[in-house]
Amino acid sequence: MYDIKVTKATELRPKPDDESKLGFGKLFSDHMLLIDYDEGLGWHDARVVPFGNLSLHPASNVLHYSQEIFEGAKCYRTAKGFNLFRIRDNFERMNRSAERMGMAQIPVELCMESLFKLLEQDKEWTPHRESTSLYIRPTMIATEAVLGVSASKSYLYYVLLSPSGAYYASGLAPVGIYVEDQLVRAVRGGVGNAKTGGNYAASILAGAKAKHNGYAQVLWLDGVEQRYVEEVGSMNMMFVYENRKIVTPALNGSILPGITRDSVFKLAAGMGYDVEEKRVDINDVMADARSGKLTEAFGTGTAAVVSPVNKIAYQGEEVHIGDDGIGAVTQKLYDTLTGIQFGTVADPYGWITQL
Ligand SMILES: *Cc1c(COP(=O)(O)O)cnc(C)c1O
Repeated sequence: MYDIKVTKATELRPKPDDESKLGFGKLFSDHMLLIDYDEGLGWHDARVVPFGNLSLHPASNVLHYSQEIFEGAKCYRTAKGFNLFRIRDNFERMNRSAERMGMAQIPVELCMESLFKLLEQDKEWTPHRESTSLYIRPTMIATEAVLGVSASKSYLYYVLLSPSGAYYASGLAPVGIYVEDQLVRAVRGGVGNAKTGGNYAASILAGAKAKHNGYAQVLWLDGVEQRYVEEVGSMNMMFVYENRKIVTPALNGSILPGITRDSVFKLAAGMGYDVEEKRVDINDVMADARSGKLTEAFGTGTAAVVSPVNKIAYQGEEVHIGDDGIGAVTQKLYDTLTGIQFGTVADPYGWITQL
């Protein structure tokens, strides 16, 4: 049991009155969680406080050298209460990110207990409308105020809660994706498998280029040969062959190991689909889309769960996948996974924590 101090907000923030207009990550709940770390002292002063601005020294390491990591999870409102999904996995991944970024480890139990304490205050911020949720954003930043480059000796861990709308207003919406063959998101040996802001900064220009060309997302290729599929936008990528086999790029150090990726794979295997992790050559993807062997494709991530892909553009050619709609396999995996999250489908994997 950790000592976590709670200071209740005296002025409560207005809850959204129209849950159909929530969007993503724009509103925040009444409280936030903060925990400090100092070398020698370890993690201390865990506290739930009224939501508000942070005060940082302008030389803080994070503002110059980007020692920063984050996580993304959701709290779901169910008929019986509230569900968290594989939340311990998020905190374990956060510690792997911390290791790669040279940052302090934070005990998973401290993360769990302090999140429960924050949710005790603010779980009613979880929206009611179908497919909405309370987005959970754990973050760790380096706060040492020194311009010399080295691992920070102090860190701030904090958690924000943000009521978020249904990702799809009216059913799953397929998107077109643009294969980026110049810019790369991450390289072998780099920080692609850490959930760190720098990977997002590296992706923004290509994202704008894809949108400019009329595509919703970037399909990232590997940073060495620029030939093997890595991720789509900030999601993991899945390909369905002949309606029965699901293939995803094998984790290689530059791909973020998504919890949704892992969950979809386990569900698919449990449903009897063939599943395979391997290197996926973009030239094969294009050929298999042309021949019709590639029957569905989709991205996976916490925000959208799955995002169907109906066309891929690569080096001036555009190929269509399946019948341009939402594939049956994609829909089935989406329904099952969201069913487990919202407590309407049994959870044989022990993924759910009920509040
Ligand atoms: C967070 C993230 C994902 C998806 O991970 P989930 O655990 O499924 O939400 C995929 N790619 C990148 C780059 C990410 O940051």
